[in-house]
Amino acid sequence: MSRATKYVFVTGGVVSSIGKGLAAASVGALLEARGLRVTNVKLDPYINVDPGTMSPYQHGEVFVTDDGAEGDLDLGHYERFTSTRMQRSNNFTTGKVYEAVISKERRGQYLGGTVQVIPHITDEIKARIREATTPDGNGVDVAIIEVGGTVGDIESLPFLEALRQLKLEVGPQNSVSMHVTLVPHIAAAGELKTKPTQHSVKEMRQIGIQPDILICRTDRPLSRSIKEKISLFSNVPVDSVIAAIDVGCIYELPIALNAEGLDDQICERLNIWSRRPDLSHWHRVVERFKTPQKGTAVIGIVGKYVHLRDSYKSLHESLIHAGIAQDCRVELRYIDSENIEKQGAEAILAGLDAVLVPGGFGDRGSEGKIEAVRWAREKQVPFFGICLGLQMAVVEYARDVAGLEGANSAEFDKDAPFVVVDLMADQRSVRDKGGTMRLGAYPCVLAPGTVAAKLYGAAEISERHRHRLEVSNEHREKLVEKGLVVSGTSPDKRLVEMIELPNHPFFVGCQFHPEFKSRPMAAHPLFAGFVGAALEHAQVRLGRVQSGRPTETRPMN
Ligand code: GLN
Repeated sequence: MSRATKYVFVTGGVVSSIGKGLAAASVGALLEARGLRVTNVKLDPYINVDPGTMSPYQHGEVFVTDDGAEGDLDLGHYERFTSTRMQRSNNFTTGKVYEAVISKERRGQYLGGTVQVIPHITDEIKARIREATTPDGNGVDVAIIEVGGTVGDIESLPFLEALRQLKLEVGPQNSVSMHVTLVPHIAAAGELKTKPTQHSVKEMRQIGIQPDILICRTDRPLSRSIKEKISLFSNVPVDSVIAAIDVGCIYELPIALNAEGLDDQICERLNIWSRRPDLSHWHRVVERFKTPQKGTAVIGIVGKYVHLRDSYKSLHESLIHAGIAQDCRVELRYIDSENIEKQGAEAILAGLDAVLVPGGFGDRGSEGKIEAVRWAREKQVPFFGICLGLQMAVVEYARDVAGLEGANSAEFDKDAPFVVVDLMADQRSVRDKGGTMRLGAYPCVLAPGTVAAKLYGAAEISERHRHRLEVSNEHREKLVEKGLVVSGTSPDKRLVEMIELPNHPFFVGCQFHPEFKSRPMAAHPLFAGFVGAALEHAQVRLGRVQSGRPTETRPMN
């Protein structure tokens, strides 16, 4: 008999970027460690139908699911902290809700009624939450529902109202409200201040939700007396005032929140009887992160959106995971490719152990990326190109090795003498920008004997895509003739999905985004191979070649 789903609602107060996503992901991790089946859902109050049309500077990374949805970057945290696979339904926005309600209205489905925020918008929100929390027809044990933004924002009101109604419908033993706030330390007063938390809880109560648990972000421990003060003013029992002290490694968060009693509190309130959580795998990850045995690899990420770390969130985490697998520290340097155009590759890249050119869009800085590829190829420095990174590697090879002078990608110069990266055939007639790229999981067949096939240890793989352009088949033969190895293709062989170069320590490009599938306990094989090669380069650079090849990963268990 399937049990009814219980809910943990996660809201945030005081300031944005307070870590609600990581808190929600950690709740998932803790409940899963108790043997429960969980899922996470993110509700975003903005009007865009999805974040796919937003600049990375506005929104950070766009996370892509297997089923081809362009979603919020918190979905990446959810997948990295739990074993649940996110789907299209796990993230929706105000825009998507209104789009659905308005199209129902146009079809006459409201039977002459006046369509209003309450009940029609709130009903649509609740229906979507229920759909997302019954992924295969069966309800999960616990669904963690996070609302983006900060309480007090006008645009989040319908979402909070929907949660208030849902709480009432499912009853007190089936839902718990968790509110994430900030307890700042004011240096001048030498004190931790609880007032922002008090105000934030007051704001929640005004809209009819009494938080059951407070997660207080702080840079230092909260004393019992501070917790008692927060409890008194916020009407939350003192044991449910949980301190979330800044951690050095995000994978420490489940451990820290468990030590504060968070999962006990949730299970008690939801009347869940479960085993004690087994957090040994989180302890292992943190221990490996904090005390790597094999030194440091310095990796340059050459891109355009380098001034906002969230733009490359999954990529950053994948490199951390690979460092954990290789037992080394990864030092990540974010490099603006326009600086390479101004100062030359050697001035900017010298001293790196590896170069990664990640995904991206648009012309700005593209020549700098191409120069970075050339530098890594010629200097025998490990190179990894992802999506646009692969495309830049193909342009560089065409120009500098295959003799196709002036070669370019159609994204930057449609009239180039040799267009070696071109719009895919089925993209040519596409005019709308939202949700129209080649999105989601596609199979890729690997050529036997290649680096790619060795790293994956498989003949066919599935990876997630988000792009409009592809290596052009018009010049593919010429490139292959000149030594470029096409190591992965679509099963019908028409699309180039992976490339590599022989006679180079590590030169790999992929048209897909492997960073979406890397996990702290199971680094993605391409990232593990890349960081292994970077570490080998570091050891040669520092004249410390050790016994034992760094490319052999130490298994986590
Ligand atoms: N702009 C390129 C394309 O659309 C690459 C996209 C990407 O890197 N995600 O194909």
